[in-house]
Formats: sequence, structure tokens, C-alpha cells
Amino acid sequence: MQNAGEISKILHWANETRTPIIARGSGTGLAGGSVPSPGAVVMCLGRMDKVLELDRRNLTMLVEPGVTTQTIFDQADQVGLLYPPDPGSMKISTIGGNVSCNSGGLRGLKYGVTKDYVMGFEIVLPSGEVMWVGNKCVKDVAGYSLREVFIGSEGTLGVFTKILLRLLPKPAAKRTLLAVYARMEQAAETVSAIIAHPIIPCTLEFLDRTTINCVEDYAHVGLPREAEAILLMETDGHPAVVAEEAEIMAQLARKQGALDVRIAGTAEESLRLASARRSAFSALARVAPTTILEDVTVPRSELAGMVAFIQDLAKRHNLRIGIFGHMGDGNLHPTFLTNEKDEAEMHRVELAFGEIVTETVRRGGTITGEHGVGLAKKKFLAESVGGLNVEVMRKLRRVFDPNLILNPGKMFDS
Ligand SMILES: Cc1cc2nc3c(=O)[nH]c(=O)nc-3n(C[C@H](O)[C@H](O)[C@H](O)COP(=O)(O)OP(=O)(O)OC[C@H]3O[C@@H](n4cnc5c(N)ncnc54)[C@H](O)[C@@H]3O)c2cc1C
Repeated sequence: MQNAGEISKILHWANETRTPIIARGSGTGLAGGSVPSPGAVVMCLGRMDKVLELDRRNLTMLVEPGVTTQTIFDQADQVGLLYPPDPGSMKISTIGGNVSCNSGGLRGLKYGVTKDYVMGFEIVLPSGEVMWVGNKCVKDVAGYSLREVFIGSEGTLGVFTKILLRLLPKPAAKRTLLAVYARMEQAAETVSAIIAHPIIPCTLEFLDRTTINCVEDYAHVGLPREAEAILLMETDGHPAVVAEEAEIMAQLARKQGALDVRIAGTAEESLRLASARRSAFSALARVAPTTILEDVTVPRSELAGMVAFIQDLAKRHNLRIGIFGHMGDGNLHPTFLTNEKDEAEMHRVELAFGEIVTETVRRGGTITGEHGVGLAKKKFLAESVGGLNVEVMRKLRRVFDPNLILNPGKMFDS
């Protein structure tokens, strides 16, 4: 695909002939959103990869949907600006995929997620009509917020062809800390104490013991293998504030029983500590033939209890599950290390997964914090948001796509 005009013609034809269309960025989605359905045409947007404008007076960047998240970050960085959303896949994921899934990242606690940086977009509707939504204005309350409707729609309501992003001034300084714990609750208590202080760090990420050991085997970062949990913390902003916050965070971690707290002294050391978290998924993915990365979110106060529940569940079902995630956001990624050829084990994985969903909902959480519903979670959607919500979503989808040509069978059945 090269532009909105071409996409418009294809969608018009697809609508006339009732041909399913699947928009695809880099295919890194973890809910199966861009997996083709039978008879579908896959529309690859990777070649629409131009940065069209960087407006320093309005702090915006206009891009095509196939630009990678890393390119956006790098181009902003080069002129002293920051594009904060940083999914672990940012080197290859596209901004079109990020907006369609409303992706999060490691900086979510302080800076929010993709939707917080989308000011507008050009979108081709299933009818083939091309619509522009939003503008460069900081304030705009004209009519319903259509941005919110399309962001996170997982390729079911339209195809993004241009995206207008909001940028921030780049923070002048950053400090990275790593705290080591004998118990997961102590890491969770540290997070609560930091936020209650109140300090809002840009990153508060955790790894459990299984993940620590896999990362150590893979990346040799020097993590303590006997630890039950580690917490990666980052604060950014004015150098004086950052220095003070880093000191307070270290004190709070020690007060909550951290066995060791390391504050990175150099940018290289900071990168090395952060790489422990960034390499978690790759490290886990090496140890078993099949890796199933889950994504549930609970209120922050429920996170330690949820981790304990999953650890117990792993024992009960005789499964290997590594857990890591965004502790500051209550977003955890239980990762099943399994083998899809082992039918009995896959059955236990299914059962365990159902229990995680039920426990998440019981604790006031959601079945997906950032990966989306796609194919993987659609059977749990009603349990998570309620039947009436799903019914309203279904009706909304039909307003834009009465013939259900865009990504049919994803999110819900019709
Ligand atoms: C190693 C790894 C780490 C990851 N880490 C994170 C993380 O930290 N946070 C996070 O949120 N996710 C993460 N993900 C998930 C994934 O990378 C994101 O969901 C990402 O936004 C998908 O982008 P993509 O370009 O690969 O989209 P795809 O996978 O190609 O598509 C995803 C969905 O978006 C739709 N879509 C794509 N482009 C368009 C478009 N232009 N218009 C309309 N619909 C479109 C597709 O139809 C599909 O439903 C990770 C994935 C991997 C493999």
C-alpha cells in the first residue's frame, strides 16, 4: 500500500464484494489481531513508512502508519524531544499497530500510553471514505471524541493512513535503580510507598524469580538468581529533582526490606540494568518450544496478591510460568513456558489461563492492559467488561462497518 487513495479503492471494492480485509503492520501483535481469516486479503502497511512533518512550534510529528515506533522515538530524540510510548517491540512494531492496539510500554506510569500522544489521524472507513479526525490544537471539544473510538479498535473500524503525534520536551536527566527482594510483597510495598510519597517515576517494572534466572542465562546482567523479585525503577526530569527522587526511592526500597539497591552511576550502567527488563520476553522465549505471553491488569494494590495466585496456580497445574511486568501500572505478563505438541500440558494451560482471567476480574482487573482482545481474548471479553458493553461495541462496529469486512472474527464474532 502507498497511500489513502489506494486503500480507499480497495476498501470500496471489498465492501461491494464482501471481501474481508486485515490491516497489518509488523505482525508483532500478541492477541492475534492481524492473523488472516479464511478468504481474507491482508493489507500490509509497512511500506507507508515516511515521517511527513516534525513541527517544533506545535510539538507534533505527522507520520505514515508503517513508521516504526523506534524511528519516531529516534527522530524526536535527535531534536531534543520525547515520544514516550515504548512497547518492548518498538524496534519493529509500527505506529499504525500501536494506535490500533493502544499499546503501552515501560514509561506508562508517568507518561501514559499511545492514546495520550495521538492528536489526530487520517483514516479510511470500510465504505472507502477518507476521514480526518483531530488537529494540532491542545484543546478541542467539538462534538464526540472520535479519536477515542478509533484508537484501540484493532483494525475493526478503519485503516489508519496518517497519524499526528504529540511530543514532549526531552527530560534533561534520568536515573535508573535496581532493587532486589526476598519476597514479591516487598517489591509491591516499595511501589506503594514511592507513589504515596508522592513520587511518580517513569518506570516501575518487576521480574519474578523464574524470569530473573532466564534473563541471567540469556543476558548475563549480573542479577541475583536467588532473589524472589527485582524492581527496576527509573526517574526522569530536572537533574536536581532526579537526584533527590532517586535517593528517596532507594531509601524507600531499603525500608521495605530490599536486600540490595543499585543506583546506576553511568548511562551505560543504566542501559545494562534496564536491559534486564527489556530482554525478559526474549529470555523466557528461549527456554521452551512454545511461549504464551499473557497480559492482565489489576488495581495496583492487588498486584502482589495476583502474583502469589499465579505462582500457586503454576504449582497446582504443574506448569512453568515466568511473571514480569509493569508493577506501577498493575499490569502483569504471566508467561507460560510450554510445548504446544504436548496436548495434556496445553489442556492444563487452558485451564490455568481461565483461572487467571476469573481471578483478575474478581480483583477488579481487566483481561488485557495493552495487548488487546484480537482472537486470543475474545471469549473472555464479556466476562471482563459485561454483556451490555459488548452489545454496545457490536452496534458501534456496525455503524462504521455494516458488512463486517474489516478484521471479521476479531474482538467478537459479529
Ligand atoms: C517481543 C514483544 C514485545 C512486546 N511488548 C509490548 C509492550 O511492551 N506493550 C504493548 O502494548 N505491546 C507489546 N507487544 C505487542 C505488539 O508489539 C503491539 O501490539 C504493537 O502495537 C503491534 O504493532 P504491529 O505493527 O506489529 O501491528 P500488527 O501486529 O501487524 O497489528 C496489530 C493490530 O493492529 C491492526 N492494524 C495494524 N496496522 C493498522 C492500521 N494502519 N490501521 C488499522 N489497523 C491496523 C491489525 O489489524 C491488528 O489488529 C510486544 C510484542 C512482542 C513480540
